[in-house]
Amino acid sequence: MVEQGKFKNNKRWKFDMKNRNLALIIRQLEVPLGYSASDVRIAIVRRLGCQKSDLISFEVVRRSLDARPRRSAPAVVLQVEVQSRGRLNLKRLRNVERLVLAPTVVPAYPRIGKTEYRPVVVGAGPAGLMAAYHLALAGAKPLLIERGGRAEERQQDVAAFWRTGTFNPESNVLFGEGGAGLFSDGKLTARSKDRPRVRRFCETLVACGASADILIDSEPHVGSDKLLQIVPRLRALIEEHGGEVCYHTKLEDITFRGTHLDSIVAGGKRIETRHLLLAVGHSARDVYHLLAKRGVALESKPFAVGVRLELPQEQINFAQYGRFAGNPHLRAASFKLTRRPEGDAAACYSFCMCPGGMVICCASEDGMMTTNGMSLSARSQFCGNAAFIVPVQPETMQGAARAGEHEALAGIRFQETIERAAYEAGGGLFAVPAVRLMDFLADRVSDDLPEPRSCSKAVPADFSEVLPPFVVSTLKSAIPRMLRELNGCKLEDVVLYAAETRSSSPVRILRDEQCCSASHRGLYPAGEGSGYAGGIVSSAVDGLRAAEMLVQRLALDAGPHARA
Ligand SMILES: Cc1cc2nc3c(=O)[nH]c(=O)nc-3n(C[C@H](O)[C@H](O)[C@H](O)COP(=O)(O)OP(=O)(O)OC[C@H]3O[C@@H](n4cnc5c(N)ncnc54)[C@H](O)[C@@H]3O)c2cc1C
Repeated sequence: MVEQGKFKNNKRWKFDMKNRNLALIIRQLEVPLGYSASDVRIAIVRRLGCQKSDLISFEVVRRSLDARPRRSAPAVVLQVEVQSRGRLNLKRLRNVERLVLAPTVVPAYPRIGKTEYRPVVVGAGPAGLMAAYHLALAGAKPLLIERGGRAEERQQDVAAFWRTGTFNPESNVLFGEGGAGLFSDGKLTARSKDRPRVRRFCETLVACGASADILIDSEPHVGSDKLLQIVPRLRALIEEHGGEVCYHTKLEDITFRGTHLDSIVAGGKRIETRHLLLAVGHSARDVYHLLAKRGVALESKPFAVGVRLELPQEQINFAQYGRFAGNPHLRAASFKLTRRPEGDAAACYSFCMCPGGMVICCASEDGMMTTNGMSLSARSQFCGNAAFIVPVQPETMQGAARAGEHEALAGIRFQETIERAAYEAGGGLFAVPAVRLMDFLADRVSDDLPEPRSCSKAVPADFSEVLPPFVVSTLKSAIPRMLRELNGCKLEDVVLYAAETRSSSPVRILRDEQCCSASHRGLYPAGEGSGYAGGIVSSAVDGLRAAEMLVQRLALDAGPHARA
């Protein structure tokens, strides 16, 4: 619940000169866990040293948790916007400032009239969905094409894949409506400084059924179960505003007239278009090959590979919350660990932590597999997991590309070698290779795996046959040191799964300031697959930005047809 002062509507207000009201922002306002609106009101009155009756309204705009064991009690820390009456000496108040209203909405862009060719968006992941939604709102009637099925249909294919190993190359954990983010942890970590677009994405999710908590939480989380409800509603919004969505329709070819987009082939049909927003994610390796064949400017970029590490959530909670662990108001704890390069060992960092989640097997091609983590909104599973990954620089991949192939594809070949080895180490049928940490450190294959664990379809394997030697040696030296920071973590309970290969794109599709391909007009690479974004929020924000650029272009092209 987003708390709101009951005595005022939730419209944003400005400093009210006539009534001499004050608009303030209060930071670091502590309230107890499980707090109510009345707790917030009391805390505000205390901080301002004013009367209860001076308070006109308040709105919680940011919320985080402080449960560090050295505190006397855990607390929720709020940032609150307040409107109050009376005179206050702000200089004497701690963490209270006059509120300066920053723009909270993305500026309006022109609405598009009739265009000769419809813009096409490829890929219904976070980037493509947000792009198609924006284009639809602008009146551009986009065509959104997706190689996989609707989220509901895809759910069945993924369940069968995890249960029996039956793999569908077009409908799986990575392909299909909702994109790679559908069966995910659904954490909405936003490192992006583009606050207005982040807000706009989160508000769109809320309009589609997500909890309004994501608008204020410092670590917002939705969970896969909720994403499965949100994505169909977003699709409905796109259609309501004039967009069209075509499933089981794979982009197979792109043709250019000189360096200008001319048409695409999708689902066996040629579609004439002059504007293509390409949001295919970084698992669409066939699309990178196609772009290389068509001479689109690409370059390789650093990425990272490693393992997914799992341990009992109870131990993570204890490490983070100490004696407060077990408090029912505290959610499953997370961690972020890093290790600098040292001696022969490269750097290592934890990534995509899924508290109370599951380790899952992912694949976008038969005979290759990779790991990842997901969770449901409750995050209540017995274990927590995170990737522990080692950066791979373009120099390391040199020579990995096949003869005659574009050098930018070397990273893909590097990933494929690991993913094929992981598939074989798992014995086929997409069982996940696994090892106890203590056995990994002693160069042994485990006799058995700890129970309970989240990934039941796992088999003991030799990780030196899966991962490159520099990754194995770095993980061996880094993981025990990194886990030392989790007080009370028992190394003998830790299990590793291989291989984590798709933390980010190994390729960048070069583009200009207007999000248009650096080499080809009309092509707008966006989202994680473009190499300029990573994660659900930044990919969605990137899709939105690329769509805004495209709307501007369409408005210019449409000339007098464009409506302000
Ligand atoms: C298991 C898992 C868990 C994750 N957890 C998180 C998390 O908790 N938080 C977070 O921020 N990030 C998470 N991520 C990463 C996040 O999902 C991605 O960064 C994000 O989905 C990228 O969005 P995108 O739209 O750019 O690409 P994608 O989500 O990859 O979507 C691309 C879409 O394009 C379609 N497509 C591909 N090729 C074609 C083609 N030729 N024709 C037509 N359609 C095509 C695909 O089917 C897909 O639907 C997770 C990823 C995975 C795999």
